[in-house]
Amino acid sequence: MKLRQLEMALERLEGYAAPEPRLEQYRTPAPLAARLLFHAWSRGDIAGKRVIDLGCGTGVLSVGAALLGAGEVTGVDVDPVALQVAKRNAEAHDVEVRLVPGDVADPALVERLPDGDTVVMNPPFGAQKAHADRPFIDAALRLAPVTYGIFNAGSRSFLTAYIQGRSRVDEVVSGAIPIKKTFSFHTRDVREIPVEIMVLRRTS
Ligand code: SAH
Repeated sequence: MKLRQLEMALERLEGYAAPEPRLEQYRTPAPLAARLLFHAWSRGDIAGKRVIDLGCGTGVLSVGAALLGAGEVTGVDVDPVALQVAKRNAEAHDVEVRLVPGDVADPALVERLPDGDTVVMNPPFGAQKAHADRPFIDAALRLAPVTYGIFNAGSRSFLTAYIQGRSRVDEVVSGAIPIKKTFSFHTRDVREIPVEIMVLRRTS
């Protein structure tokens, strides 16, 4: 599948009916999701691999990974309604995604998840709840040797320090998320949030 084809397939997926601000439910725009997945695929980290999507939401990254030939995809999210949408999205593309309801910050959940080869994630940035991103980083490093995650631009130094001794920032790819006025506290109609796709590789 070509990048543009993947982008179009992801564009058509069903999104959140009523996004929950507290959970930072922003669906990753198709071009950014496709970019992350293609990048991971080109590095040999998707095809035939066990891929885990933390905070999978409506399943954009999970379904995309499956479309690129992942061996096995597991999506985890705390919101059961989002998981129902993810299930429909996987069915619409006739791909298999294992969907697990649960809180990524719950160590018992992480313990129960099978090890993976690759984590993909667009976690909360911690804009609503401080440090909401940290359990995602911790779980990702624990579950797989390589993680492709979307983070606020400029978080590289925080991340490098936070994961030191466990993993390192191997690559950084710049991107942007255009955000429409989804929530009432947004003042302008559209703004662009600069983001970075960071590749974290386990060092220990
Ligand atoms: N990965 C999806 C959704 C990104 S929005 C996409 O790329 O479109 C972040 C997602 O993380 C939301 O679906 C939200 O429900 C989920 N989430 C937030 N906190 C969580 C937690 N502690 N445990 C599991 N999922 C969580």
